[in-house]
Amino acid sequence: MEKKKIVQDPVCLMYIERDKALATSIYKGTTYYFCSHMCKDRFDREFDKEQFIRKMNESMRQGP
Ligand SMILES: [Zn+2]
Repeated sequence: MEKKKIVQDPVCLMYIERDKALATSIYKGTTYYFCSHMCKDRFDREFDKEQFIRKMNESMRQGP
């Protein structure tokens, strides 16, 4: 049986099931998942997307 895939929203840093993500965005070949269209909007409008990704990677290292 396949385990549910948990992904992290890079904007609000919330953990969500991938199937339940309300929005996605592809940046540099990687798909990012968002809990809401608001978060996707913030990500899409941000010029420096790396800051979100950096923050997400830091929080992943520390664990939820
Ligand atoms: Zn979010």
